[in-house]
Amino acid sequence: MTVARLRPFGETVFATMSAKAAEFDAVNLGQGFPDSDGPARMLEIACEQIRAGNNQYGPGRGMAVLREAVAAQRARDHQVTYDPGAEVLVTVGATEAISAAVLGLVEPGSEVIVLEPCYDAYAAAIALAGAQRVAVPLVPDGATWTVDVDAVRAAVTKRTSMIIVNSPHNPTGSVFSREVLAGLAAVCVERDLLVLSDEVYENLLFDGRAHTALAALPGMFERTVTVSSAAKSWNVTGWKTGWALAPAPLLDAVLKAKQFMSYVGATPFQPAVAHALNEESEWLTGMVAELAEGRDLLAAGLRDAGLQVHDTHGTYFVVADISALGETDGVEFCLGLPGRIGVAAIPVQVFCDDPGPWRTKVRFAFGKRHDTLRLGVEKLQSL
Ligand code: PMP
Ligand code: GLN
Repeated sequence: MTVARLRPFGETVFATMSAKAAEFDAVNLGQGFPDSDGPARMLEIACEQIRAGNNQYGPGRGMAVLREAVAAQRARDHQVTYDPGAEVLVTVGATEAISAAVLGLVEPGSEVIVLEPCYDAYAAAIALAGAQRVAVPLVPDGATWTVDVDAVRAAVTKRTSMIIVNSPHNPTGSVFSREVLAGLAAVCVERDLLVLSDEVYENLLFDGRAHTALAALPGMFERTVTVSSAAKSWNVTGWKTGWALAPAPLLDAVLKAKQFMSYVGATPFQPAVAHALNEESEWLTGMVAELAEGRDLLAAGLRDAGLQVHDTHGTYFVVADISALGETDGVEFCLGLPGRIGVAAIPVQVFCDDPGPWRTKVRFAFGKRHDTLRLGVEKLQSL
């Protein structure tokens, strides 16, 4: 019964693997969500807001207190200035911001470039918009991956409308260098492309890496819709509170689509997230330091279990190669893993049009308590 443009999409790999994890009571290193809570005061504010009666529809663009906090954070952390009245939109997670940006800005039949492997929501948003996905693969860069800027340039046609960029990158954990992103930005300016910059992992950076906000690069502000979310910075993936930032003409198009998808998101969370953005930078620093330790713990455990482990300098994710175990297919491997050893993980090839080199790559999430990671590592040793 499903419409043709959605027929190629099954259940999301995250739902499938989390269900498998639950079925076998496995340690869930698949879907990227933390198993500890965000800042205590932030949680209290959400409860207070409910008790105080902030339980009805908020303004269409989101509560002013959150739009102001988001604009202040962008200016403070990334030196990009947005008018909270006209250039910030609160959305139902980054997911809605992504769909609304594509639906509001991309004409049916035009092309959208994605860098693969790419987060599953991009392909679905492009399909919903009746547009064409053009995948440009990331290329190896030492023990991680980067963007092949020349390949992106070569993929641009007269019909290309938008490119979707995500750094720090899910699923690989790559953090693209400022130089590479500047090269990519130059192509976008040269070919007059719209840019959707998914920066949900902007704060999850390790080893002294700094975030590059694409909109801060020359010629990019006017063409870029930036998307981010409270989910991964404040351990509230279930609050589904995200935002889009763009100059007014672009953001108005995003708003047009968004208002008929959800109208508005949940109100009581918005002042709570605003508090976190304004006041909880110390909590965030501590959380990211723990995350880096968790990355080291899991990477060492994967190596001990005989897998080849790629570098990651950001996000929740580390990619390992399973070929040293004699395995040839990540999907098969991940479907069997919860039942076999009590661990869940995500095959990278499901994020690719051309699974080729990605077939033996598997993503493990380290955004978990260290005791959870230790338990996962222990189970992985029986591979
Ligand atoms: N983009 C990427 C790259 C993600 O990994 C995720 C999941 N956090 C999202 C978007 C969706 O974010 P949200 O949960 O805020 O909708
Ligand atoms: N972003 C999360 C991940 O990559 C999953 C979000 C979802 O399940 N849609 O694991």
